[in-house]
Amino acid sequence: MNVPYFDLKGQTQSIRGELDRAIAEQLDNGSFCLGPAVDAFEKAFAAYTGAKYSLGFNSGTSALHVATRILNLGPGDEVITTPFTFVATSWAIVYTNAKPVYVDIDPATMNLDPAKIEAAITPRTKAIMPVHLYGHPVDLDPILQICAKHKLALIEDAAQAHGAKYKGKPVGTFGAMSGFSFYPGKNLGACGEGGALVTNDDAIYKRAKALREHGSYERYYHDEIGYNYRMEGIQGAALGVKLKRLPAWTARRRELAHRYHALLKGTPLTLPVEAAYGESVYHLYVVRHTKRDALREYLTKNGIGCALHYPLPCHLQKCFASLGHKVGDFPVAERSAKECLSLPIYPEMTNEQQDAVAAAIKAFFATPAAA
Ligand SMILES: *Cc1c(COP(=O)(O)O)cnc(C)c1O
Repeated sequence: MNVPYFDLKGQTQSIRGELDRAIAEQLDNGSFCLGPAVDAFEKAFAAYTGAKYSLGFNSGTSALHVATRILNLGPGDEVITTPFTFVATSWAIVYTNAKPVYVDIDPATMNLDPAKIEAAITPRTKAIMPVHLYGHPVDLDPILQICAKHKLALIEDAAQAHGAKYKGKPVGTFGAMSGFSFYPGKNLGACGEGGALVTNDDAIYKRAKALREHGSYERYYHDEIGYNYRMEGIQGAALGVKLKRLPAWTARRRELAHRYHALLKGTPLTLPVEAAYGESVYHLYVVRHTKRDALREYLTKNGIGCALHYPLPCHLQKCFASLGHKVGDFPVAERSAKECLSLPIYPEMTNEQQDAVAAAIKAFFATPAAA
């Protein structure tokens, strides 16, 4: 049985009629940039995350960039973050000319390790930017304590964690601001690009709104240098349709994750864990093994889609060579990059497809390549 890594067409088909009507409405009323569908989605997404405000952006990267702009970061300022994430987390820092200061990850959750943060703090540290990687919440309480002690801001990169919970409360409002992505492959995806900045703070909300729209509080009066980071009306409409399904989709992801745990228990793979403090939304189901490359090749040959998140940590990316890092600086992140393998997980996946993935993995471990 062939199992695709991801099935966006299946998701679209399941809600096609409603999407068509919602998008057609935008074509008819001509609200292409922001507009009533974006307003409605912002309110619904704020309610979903338990936040006072959510603002629609044209990507998760731009939402995170506005978050760092609001901290007034500049050259010489430092932001502590994880090297094991999608590169956009670091973009938000370097776009302000501040410096990402990487701290290694916790080998159990693959998230920023709170125990290693304080050693990286300097007088120039302004903020901590953890990522709820793969949909699993980062351990926020110790990070919040460090922030309070050293007067640092917290920005959550929640791009992969819509609806994930930390100690029973949805992520996204633990820090001053958070950024979500609605890239089509995320748990909540637009029909194109999209993102949101979420906050409980009135002043941050007002400034983020201005920065999103050319730095203007009043049209054609520009108080500071801003951006065109507006969400499109069509994306707001599509996201409104999909947000209603998100709780059911998340429940199915969690069910599939628990099935994987049961199916793969007893194999030599290191399986994802769910920490006692959190509830993961399983954006990805990432297993680890030293024979990762051989396993990946075997699965691909046998029609099972899989992917790498991420094959090279940020500190070793060419674009950040000027930071001067070398192999060995963050050993847990580097080992994870070598051993991680993302298995297919999406709400539309059937139990039969998942059984086929598990069977192929077990078959691999019976081959000489696995020895
Ligand atoms: C997807 C993602 C982003 C960026 O979001 P875009 O909408 O693609 O710009 C940022 N951080 C993480 C961890 C992501 O996975």
